[in-house]
Amino acid sequence: MSVKQHDLLVIGAGPGGYVAAIRAAQLGLNVGLIEREAALGGTCLRIGCIPSKALLESSERFAEAGKHLGGHGIRVGKIELDLAVMMERKTRVVTTMVRGLDSLIKKNKITRYHGEAALDAPGKIKVRQPKETIELQGKFIIIATGSNPSSLKGVEQDGDRIGTSTTALSYPQVPSHLVVIGAGYIGLELGSVWRRLGARVTIIEYANRILPGMDAEIAEEAQKIFESQGIEFRLGQKVTGAQIKGKECVVSCEGIEPLPCERVLLAAGRTPNTEGLGIETLQVRTDAKGRIEVNANFETSVPGIFAIGDAIRGPMLAHKAEEEGIACVERLVTGYGHVDYDSIPAVVYTNPEIATVGRSEEDLNSAGVQYRKGVFPFRANGRAHALAATEGRCKVLADASTDRVLGVHIIGPRAGDLIAEAAVGMACKCSSEDLARTSHAHPTLSEALKEAALAVDSRALHI
Ligand code: FAD
Repeated sequence: MSVKQHDLLVIGAGPGGYVAAIRAAQLGLNVGLIEREAALGGTCLRIGCIPSKALLESSERFAEAGKHLGGHGIRVGKIELDLAVMMERKTRVVTTMVRGLDSLIKKNKITRYHGEAALDAPGKIKVRQPKETIELQGKFIIIATGSNPSSLKGVEQDGDRIGTSTTALSYPQVPSHLVVIGAGYIGLELGSVWRRLGARVTIIEYANRILPGMDAEIAEEAQKIFESQGIEFRLGQKVTGAQIKGKECVVSCEGIEPLPCERVLLAAGRTPNTEGLGIETLQVRTDAKGRIEVNANFETSVPGIFAIGDAIRGPMLAHKAEEEGIACVERLVTGYGHVDYDSIPAVVYTNPEIATVGRSEEDLNSAGVQYRKGVFPFRANGRAHALAATEGRCKVLADASTDRVLGVHIIGPRAGDLIAEAAVGMACKCSSEDLARTSHAHPTLSEALKEAALAVDSRALHI
């Protein structure tokens, strides 16, 4: 068996793994990057963030052409959907990004291995390649193996009619009725895609609200807007099973009639992917949720083996995985690296978008933190009117005594872009007064955030 030597071995080429590999190469390490799929980029690039956003964009344009262009004085003829072309475009977007990533890996002189990696001993990995198994040795190993969709007892997935987000990114036809299990961001985004393209969409959620964990007031407003778009919600319902019965799928819930439909999308969370990795043999410790335990240096219970991204605790988000990859490698090489978990934004790319950073009102209330709240609606923002996108609001929460911004929650047009300002501000420990006194270009949507900051001190100007 051939043996190859590197300073650092990274298992998994998702946003956590490939960014860690690039940063390590920048810092002068000789890096080996192992990925079992033919394409680099991980869940995010191949079957997550990027293809879902491509479909969200296309389906939104379809909805706009069909319903909203008339209001701008633009008459269009009959709108027709060419789903095959829409899917081809999505694939092209992914392929372009994957090619770009290939050249980044080459440019940084990272050695790439295509195969399934398993830990053999501290500093040693076996990689099962299509033709042979090789051994790699590295002073340090980073596990960046990501996560897989969680299964749910009784939901009998066939990988087609009853499947996960991966299947829902490639349905060959618009389903007549899609039942989505789970009202988190994946269920809402993909539910929105198929609703806009004409499907009846029912979202079933175990909690009594959508987007569990996000600010409740914003989630409540989002639910009303999604309902006005025709999405049906069944909240507070426990799914007990889903089976294919002839031409139909049937979803069963506790205490109510079974729900027939054409397709089922199971979007009830994700589980860290550590299967077959050999962590048990090496006694790499995991927690009750199967996440690899790490210390502040991202080091596992086995010295020299590190873990980042969806495989460890914290929000399962691509940018969180990236920041951890960078911090982990910088700590290894320079002794310093840091992730500010308090200023990691999260975005739901529905229409309108929902974006949040920092603490929710519920969180502050349950922690007994005194705060002041400023809210500004997009219906009082000039640019939102020009865009014909006036739904939603910005909300700023600031510490009652120090005025430090503790949380910003936005539902509205381009919320995903607007939240960056709040994230930078929070990372720099800004006050609501800092946001309020910063000049924001006019007319922009960002003025709504400035006004929400002014509203913390009851001095919003345009309402
Ligand atoms: P992953 O991206 O999962 O990468 C892990 C890689 O490791 C994979 O390529 C896998 O093949 C490889 N691997 C696993 N085991 C082995 C092994 N033994 N040997 C070799 N290779 C292995 N996040 C956002 O921030 N924004 C979004 O808009 C967003 N949208 C999403 C939409 C969908 C539909 C889904 C499913 C997810 C979305 N996410 C989004 C979440 C995001 O994709 C993940 O948080 C992110 O990909 C995690 O990065 P990672 O590097 O930890 O793992």
